[in-house]
Amino acid sequence: MLEALKEQPADKILALMGAYRADPRDDKIDLGVGVYKDPTGNTPVMRAVKEAERRIWSSQETKAYTGLAGEPAFADAMIGLVLGDAVPRDRVAAVATPGGTGAIRQALELIRLAAPSATVWLSNPTWPNHPSIIKYLGMPSAEYRYFDEATGGVDFDGMLADLRGVAAGDVVLLHGCCHNPTGANLTADQWQQTIAAVRAAGAVPLIDIAYQGFGDGLGADATGTRAVAGAMEECLIAASCSKNFGIYRERTGLLMAVARDAAQAKVAQGTLAFLNRQNYSFPPDHGARVVTEILTDADLRADWESELEEVRNTMLGLRQALADELRRLTNSDRFDFIARHRGMFSRLGLTPEQVEVLRKDHGVYMVGDSRINIAGLNQDTVPVLAKAIAEVAS
Ligand code: PMP
Repeated sequence: MLEALKEQPADKILALMGAYRADPRDDKIDLGVGVYKDPTGNTPVMRAVKEAERRIWSSQETKAYTGLAGEPAFADAMIGLVLGDAVPRDRVAAVATPGGTGAIRQALELIRLAAPSATVWLSNPTWPNHPSIIKYLGMPSAEYRYFDEATGGVDFDGMLADLRGVAAGDVVLLHGCCHNPTGANLTADQWQQTIAAVRAAGAVPLIDIAYQGFGDGLGADATGTRAVAGAMEECLIAASCSKNFGIYRERTGLLMAVARDAAQAKVAQGTLAFLNRQNYSFPPDHGARVVTEILTDADLRADWESELEEVRNTMLGLRQALADELRRLTNSDRFDFIARHRGMFSRLGLTPEQVEVLRKDHGVYMVGDSRINIAGLNQDTVPVLAKAIAEVAS
């Protein structure tokens, strides 16, 4: 049987990680994989996470199975964090999932079950795992324009024009904030226009929110998601706790299905639990428990929010410093968009050849589409990177 297997294409970002590790140069710079790193290059365990784990360790008396949907307290806490009071709680069905990826996978499984011929519309570009999972599940997909290479901003006219082609019952996948890979995001007004377009088409939004708190702040980053949930009869929301709680390997996420009423939410809840059962039975619990502990304890929550703010402001400072240095070196505003982008990523708009020169000649590792992880920098490496970019881009 196994001889029938074919070599699977390597994940480009993980392959880049390997190449970086194998590079003997001391002054190499890793701007690849999407993990937050502090100025010393570490991905720390957040203080509140450590304390929550200590409390769980000392008080937990069983590791028997939880519910198929995970602990209800986790769902409640996360719904509060993501949706605030945008929709009544009884309209929201939710299941814990292994990370944001698990939430996206379960959302797509739900769509496939309910509407097998629905086309899933993806931003061009998007996180490569979106099309990859959709293709694996054999679901139809299409792209809407999103990024304007010339300005480094959102091609909003193109996006709206493409959304006019969406059919009733199709699904439109939107990034809740901190768009990956571009870093370019919708304004509040553009969210409203997007909602109007999706409603007019009779489509269902699927929101992927993986970086809440990394852009403009916890509340501000949820503005679009809350507006969608408040305005639409139905939507799906996949939330990840990997980045904002720094618990990447704990695999912690939540899938929410906002239904038109409580009765449909109940059926959706049963379906989500069923889907968990088919795929992995009970979702991971440890990370979810840590998140619940933090969100429901006033002191832990305050400490988490303040550390997350430090993380966010560190990235904003690096964005500004890189944009300023590039402005000085290129004597132009070509790279000013880096300071306007939000989240961990920016797409620089360099060619694959230029990205290759940066790697070979300068030891700078970024994804082939010229996406950089801004958190891979610090105040010392900003000028080094700016100089290298200015050189290859001139
Ligand atoms: N969505 C997007 C856009 C992401 O960038 C990521 C992480 N790279 C995820 C979802 C899911 O992350 P995880 O499964 O690690 O929670």
